[in-house]
Amino acid sequence: MKNIVLFGPPGAGKGTQSERLIANFGFAHLSTGDIFRRNIKGNTPLGSLASSYLSKGELVPDRVTIDMLEQEFDTSASGSGFIFDGFPRTIAQAEALDAFLGGKNNQIHVMVAIEVPEEELVKRLLLRGQESGRPDDANEEVVRNRIKVYEEQTARVAGYYGAQGKFRAVNGLGSIDDVYERLIGAIGL
Ligand code: AMP
Repeated sequence: MKNIVLFGPPGAGKGTQSERLIANFGFAHLSTGDIFRRNIKGNTPLGSLASSYLSKGELVPDRVTIDMLEQEFDTSASGSGFIFDGFPRTIAQAEALDAFLGGKNNQIHVMVAIEVPEEELVKRLLLRGQESGRPDDANEEVVRNRIKVYEEQTARVAGYYGAQGKFRAVNGLGSIDDVYERLIGAIGL
């Protein structure tokens, strides 16, 4: 059993690569972005709280996000472990996740970052905005703000796992197959 944090800026390919890892290895997928979007679509109280943050490309407050993640973890079947996709995005979230998993005699085994240069990210996200209709991908100002939020608030989470000897990075350029092979190698699957 392995718990993996799939890390990287918006547009790096975390969702795409998660799907492959799940299909091939049976991990459970915990994507906080997907959970927020599901709640917004379903008009839940959590969705109405989160929607203004998502539409601006800002982070939803830590307490709300952590509580939601913990609840989702507890109601998911673990399979061969969990892929955390889009979480943790702040040091407070990383600390909360360690405490939460530690309380269950569990832990994060590895964090893998998918690295992609900014201009490529903007290109990919705007294309995805046209294809998927995801509103926070369709607007260049929001796309650039999400990358800025990543640089300012999220990138440092890599150092948190680095200090635990759990951080790996792979080049996110090239075909989906190429990046997948690099990920498998980095995770040790
Ligand atoms: P994503 O699908 O991972 O790109 O996330 C889409 C949006 O959901 C982000 O721009 C944030 O507004 C919100 N979000 C997702 N995950 C988190 C998180 N771990 N902490 C705070 N906000 C989040």
